[in-house]
Amino acid sequence: MKAAPVPPTAAEVLDAGIGAEASGLGHRASTGLDTRHGTILSLEGIEVSFDGFKALRHLNLYIGVGELRCIIGPNGAGKTTMMDVITGKTRPDRGSAWFGETLDLTRLQPVEIAQAGIGRKFQKPTVFEALTVWENLELAQRTDKSVWASLRARLSGEQRDRLEEVLTTIRLQESRGRTAGLLSHGQKQFLEIGMLLVQEPQLLLLDEPVAGMTDAETEFTAELFKSLVPRHSLMVVEHDMGFVGSIADHVTVLHQGHVLAEGSLDQVQANDQVIEVYLGR
Ligand code: ADP
Ligand code: MG
Repeated sequence: MKAAPVPPTAAEVLDAGIGAEASGLGHRASTGLDTRHGTILSLEGIEVSFDGFKALRHLNLYIGVGELRCIIGPNGAGKTTMMDVITGKTRPDRGSAWFGETLDLTRLQPVEIAQAGIGRKFQKPTVFEALTVWENLELAQRTDKSVWASLRARLSGEQRDRLEEVLTTIRLQESRGRTAGLLSHGQKQFLEIGMLLVQEPQLLLLDEPVAGMTDAETEFTAELFKSLVPRHSLMVVEHDMGFVGSIADHVTVLHQGHVLAEGSLDQVQANDQVIEVYLGR
């Protein structure tokens, strides 16, 4: 007689990545990212010094799976340096940085971190100006970064579907055949966000995404970011308080390399220390 099959424990199911999508515990958990405790990013006790100047000092910050977190704070607070630590560009002198429960970001190379599912958008758009919108997306989807080899290779139906989906998300369907160099500043920013999305990152880091955008573009960016969660988790650095108020339910204020305040935008805006160092009276 055969023994009755023993149902797997929840932990085993999550380890195997089965059912993770259904349970909402992190997109693409099947690729190995372990987010069983609901946290996608944990920074603990991070210290970064530049020639004796402490850019980050005992920084603790946690981002939940599917969360849209805004980071605000004065210039020089360490916001960009924090993103540099997360993406492996800068190694912290002390502290730990975990992606999910098990990926130690302080030991991975920037390329490995990107492949693990962390996408970063810098302030200035860096699209390939001579290529069309579609070609830019196609190229971003390829892991082999040789331009011509990538463009010659045939797309699978699934890849094509994902590109179409992203093209719709960033509202550039009508401009798919357009040379990227001819797009407006805002459209280039959307294209670059699209180039990150085709890689299906679980965590997106966006540094001052609406700087230089028109009001209409800023409004669309807010809608776009809200539509990306909870499939993706977002960390957005931005000074535009109207924009922050329109997207964030949770805000972290950085000051002199550490967290000064955290909470809803209303809460941090009412915080005396935050008013003192950043928002003014
Ligand atoms: P933010 O993005 O919040 O404006 P940054 O992270 O860019 O702040 O900078 C934090 C502090 O660290 C600033 O005082 C800046 O001058 C300093 N800093 C950043 N990167 C470097 C570097 N590579 N070398 C020396 N100092 C740096
Ligand atoms: Mg910065």
